Amino acid sequence: MHQKDYTNVIDLRYGQDACCGLGKEIGKFCVMTMEIPWRITKNKLGGNPEIVVFVETMEEKWLNSICEQMPEFDTIVGIGGGMAIDAAKYISWKKGKRLVSIPSILSVDAFTTPAAGIRRNHEVDYVGVASPDPLVIDFGIIRTAPPELNIAGIGDLLSMHTASFDWAHANLKGKSEFPYSSSSIEKANKILQMLYGLLGDVRENTDKGLMAIVQGYIDLNTICLPIGHFRVEEGSEHYLFYELEERLKRPFVHGYIIGLGIYIMSQLQGNNFPFIKEVMDEVKLPYHPSILEIKKDDLLKSLLNVREYVKSRPKLWYTIINDTEITEEWAEAALQGLHFA
Ligand SMILES: [Zn+2]
Repeated sequence: MHQKDYTNVIDLRYGQDACCGLGKEIGKFCVMTMEIPWRITKNKLGGNPEIVVFVETMEEKWLNSICEQMPEFDTIVGIGGGMAIDAAKYISWKKGKRLVSIPSILSVDAFTTPAAGIRRNHEVDYVGVASPDPLVIDFGIIRTAPPELNIAGIGDLLSMHTASFDWAHANLKGKSEFPYSSSSIEKANKILQMLYGLLGDVRENTDKGLMAIVQGYIDLNTICLPIGHFRVEEGSEHYLFYELEERLKRPFVHGYIIGLGIYIMSQLQGNNFPFIKEVMDEVKLPYHPSILEIKKDDLLKSLLNVREYVKSRPKLWYTIINDTEITEEWAEAALQGLHFA
């Protein structure tokens, strides 16, 4: 494949009933899924799977034992959210078999990324390479998910607003960890512009809106996979989330908490905060701490600590956080418009 068009999706099918009858065209197949996604997909899919595995955990040991028990097959089909898709990716990679991905929700981008997020003794690790052939975006299935969880999918795309700024900032300070690429930043901006034009569609989960998220992720891959890093998409907004996750020790809907990170870090950057706030409000991305169940006191503590947090982790990239002292006064003012429980 030509580098310019390098993405991780070999083939893409989309439509109201895009997965209909697919089970009859992919040879002998096994399914990695969960109960609800399987219930809504199995009749549409057709064909007879050799085995249907309900994903219980992403622990490597469990996945390997599943691999060993699998009957002969040609294709592994992942149906569901991030876990089911990643489990299928892992098995596709381990067994060298064709992968078909049918996301039932767009809240995380597992369906377009090459590596599978697994757990080794409870620690998350990204392993392997797998490319869906095809990736199937069945609008009928995706619209059975709560609409706000599909909207959450835009969080990791809107993060380009703050992450690209961070990369440019690091470059200006001579601190960029990677060769700076203004064309990457331009391409990221193009994806953002495309999304800004379809906020109502994303909010309403229309075909166009759902495809905007999927296309956004595919286009993001064409920027990030050839250069080997996701710096246009991951920056200070993610680092605040890492701090919060470590502080509160519980999971969050990723897109929601990234939205909160964008809300705060765009202010720290002096980076068009009113605009990006309006974008998040228009698309109805839930980012308020009340929805994330984050107390004001915890968020304040997190903000006052985030600079120390990133400095003590040399693997984290250089961002606005490295260069800006966050005072209590600033933090109070930055959180003013947010809703707390
Ligand atoms: Zn993310």
